[in-house]
Amino acid sequence: MPELPEVETIARGVHERVRGDRIVQVWFSSAPQTFKTSASRQSKGLAGRAIVAVHRIGKHIVCELGSAAATEPDAQWVIHLGMTGRLLVTTPDASVAPHTHARLSLASGRELRFVDPRRFGRLEFRTLSKSDGFRASGADPLSIGSKDFAALFHGRKLAIKAALLNQTLLSGIGNIYADESLFHAGIRPGRAAGRLTRTELERLRQALQTVLEHAISLGGSSVSDYVDANGVRGFFQLEHCVYQRTGELCRRCQTPIRRILLAGRGTHFCIRCQR
Ligand SMILES: [Zn+2]
Repeated sequence: MPELPEVETIARGVHERVRGDRIVQVWFSSAPQTFKTSASRQSKGLAGRAIVAVHRIGKHIVCELGSAAATEPDAQWVIHLGMTGRLLVTTPDASVAPHTHARLSLASGRELRFVDPRRFGRLEFRTLSKSDGFRASGADPLSIGSKDFAALFHGRKLAIKAALLNQTLLSGIGNIYADESLFHAGIRPGRAAGRLTRTELERLRQALQTVLEHAISLGGSSVSDYVDANGVRGFFQLEHCVYQRTGELCRRCQTPIRRILLAGRGTHFCIRCQR
């Protein structure tokens, strides 16, 4: 499943390629869908609108749409990639991948395509006059400040690892980045979130942002099948310090990395570097 850095990378890539473009024609496959908005309503809403900007909110990609490229957005197309979803910018003559569910023809001649073999992805069309803009359930880990970050965990008895994965607290942190950031912050994943000191929490916030930014700079690090906005595979594998390195030696102190189950998830840490 794409994690936050992958989604950020895709959103940036799509933004660079389609910002200012106009959607001239919309096609949806006739396969039964579990979209949040019906294909017919999406088609009607998308056709004719300009793409003002594309950005990430939580683990969603949000296309801000308007009557013209320079206007205030009046609608949004919200994409969640699910397990296997891909958002591609192609030329119209590019061969259509199996499991292509949506094709948006743009005035520039390009196409924006949504491909999803396992169909856990979600597409939603929102008119901003009728509803508020799309919001993630939790705070954004990349932009949250130290005070708000500390407040999220105040008085919480659950393990810090579980708290990091709780999407109502922070949006978009998956298993890889939870384990890696706890390692960089030197914090044991099983410690009660509410028991961390203000200094530890600040170390964790900074570690989280550093690890995420680093992954974004490398173009994401998903271990699963992954394709960028152009349809090109080849994201770098992040040099993980603990994640899925059970039994291998800690890069810092040479102690074997341990794996435990926490909140039902495999959790990797160094018993010596993390306290
Ligand atoms: Zn270590």
